[in-house]
Amino acid sequence: KTIGDMLNETAARFPDNEFLVFAEDGIRLSYEEFLHDVEAFAAGFLALGLEPGDRVGVWAPNRIEWVITQFATAKAGLIQVNINPAYRTHELEYALNKVGCKALVLADKFKTSDYEAMLQELAPELATCPHGKLDAAHLPHLRAAITMGEEAPAGFFQFADIVELAEEEHYERLYEIERSLKPTDDINIQFTSGTTGNPKGATLSHHNILNNAKFVGAAMNLTSEDRLCVPVPLYHCFGMVMSVLACALVGATLVFPAEAFEPKSVLQAVEDERCTGLQGVPTMFIAELNEPNFKRYDLSSLRTGIMAGSPCPVEVMKRVISDMHMSECTIAYGMTETSPVSFQTARGDSVERRTSTVGRIHPHAEVKVIDEDGKTVPRGTQGQLCTRGYLVMRGYWDDADRTAEAIDADGWMHTGDLAVIDAEGYCRITGRVKDMVIRGGENIYPREVEEFLYTHPDIRDAQVFGIPDEKYGEELCAWLQLKEGAELDAGAIKAFCNGQIAHYKIPRHVRFVDEYPMTVTGKIQKFKMREAMMKDLG
Ligand code: ATP
Ligand code: MG
Repeated sequence: KTIGDMLNETAARFPDNEFLVFAEDGIRLSYEEFLHDVEAFAAGFLALGLEPGDRVGVWAPNRIEWVITQFATAKAGLIQVNINPAYRTHELEYALNKVGCKALVLADKFKTSDYEAMLQELAPELATCPHGKLDAAHLPHLRAAITMGEEAPAGFFQFADIVELAEEEHYERLYEIERSLKPTDDINIQFTSGTTGNPKGATLSHHNILNNAKFVGAAMNLTSEDRLCVPVPLYHCFGMVMSVLACALVGATLVFPAEAFEPKSVLQAVEDERCTGLQGVPTMFIAELNEPNFKRYDLSSLRTGIMAGSPCPVEVMKRVISDMHMSECTIAYGMTETSPVSFQTARGDSVERRTSTVGRIHPHAEVKVIDEDGKTVPRGTQGQLCTRGYLVMRGYWDDADRTAEAIDADGWMHTGDLAVIDAEGYCRITGRVKDMVIRGGENIYPREVEEFLYTHPDIRDAQVFGIPDEKYGEELCAWLQLKEGAELDAGAIKAFCNGQIAHYKIPRHVRFVDEYPMTVTGKIQKFKMREAMMKDLG
């Protein structure tokens, strides 16, 4: 099945079910209405001269046009390229050229970002090239820019207008393309979060993400009665696969609270729309639970949801279950390269299992844990997590070297994550291979040192990482955030560690900070701290 087939089927079964609610703009669309729009836009994309296999970038926060583009490109055999709305000109140029985007659908303005102006800066030729025939020095592949704004600046197409370009022949061409599409065709290119370095363009097929969405939805027991609140960004798998596709498969409703994440608007949307599910990364749930008027919202309709992306603190899960009524909240682990989810907890799992582990492997996926020599280690032993099966991406777009590093000849995806799997198959993520520090021949797992530092009453957060060192190969650093009003110095930290943890695990360089470098999805970028420390220490 392709994504287009899936939408046709769901719209035929549940024509009047609500599919999309954009709370901020008061937009509501049923499955039938949505399908109608999607076909019109798919024909519109073809009228722009796009051909199956062409790449179409989408650069915007969560808006209706984003979801329409997702399905319209799928129907027209185009490959959608998700571009992070936090990217600026330099990153946009890299992404568009890396995958050779022919068209770009973009927002006009959002918060302090002016997308149109950034594109104009990169492609001043827009103002003078004939409409749809862009020939820009810095963007050699791009032919058309399509703005979501109400008025299109010179050279831009206006999103709503492209449907008017479509004629009978484009609809006929669309149906012909739809009949020829295969589930294994590429459908989507997504850049990884960039937590450990430069983002990589994972290339995924209909088969990859549709099946993954199905298993994700099944673990949540998602049905056509459910209403899922989605504050996570669409450009990431969490939004487009684990939320949008999971709902579209069963005829459920998606509720988008607001373009910008704000705990208040999430809680309000859950109450107003009687949502039964809520998605988020741990930092979002923490912000919602700490919203000063939290108790005033009626969240009694909630039942399920997914927390994923980074480890979930125990206290947070407890409160999500007790105060947000999400008794069936699941934890999921995955990565862009595996469509994304490979592990997820089940409904009956204990709180302990839902916080210390990421559950068990999904159906139709294989897993193994290997040591540094590539040999499989016994259960209960830490090593690198590898997964194999339908969920593994085809590769990184136009990057055979990095693809070969990630996926071996037997099809195993090397996740780069450290994990321990217990006798019953529950998996604990214990860190990233890249973050492991080898100091004077001793392996140090930063997570272990961080957990020890957390036990200090004045420390709010701790990040531990290694930097190159002439004498020991690597030397340990800690960046610490202190609780309000607390004062500590490096000497006090070392004294606290002394005698409590092995001498080689005591951070040599300690720095106190207010903030960590982070990706927009809220992941902490240790590689940036490492670079900063190396620069400072000469
Ligand atoms: P990059 O590959 O560009 O450095 P990234 O790995 O953060 O960035 P993503 O594909 O968005 O990019 O994230 C996948 C990673 O997120 C996993 O490899 C894992 O390290 C982490 N992760 C995801 N879910 C969980 C979870 N439930 N618990 C712990 N870590 C998680
Ligand atoms: Mg990664």
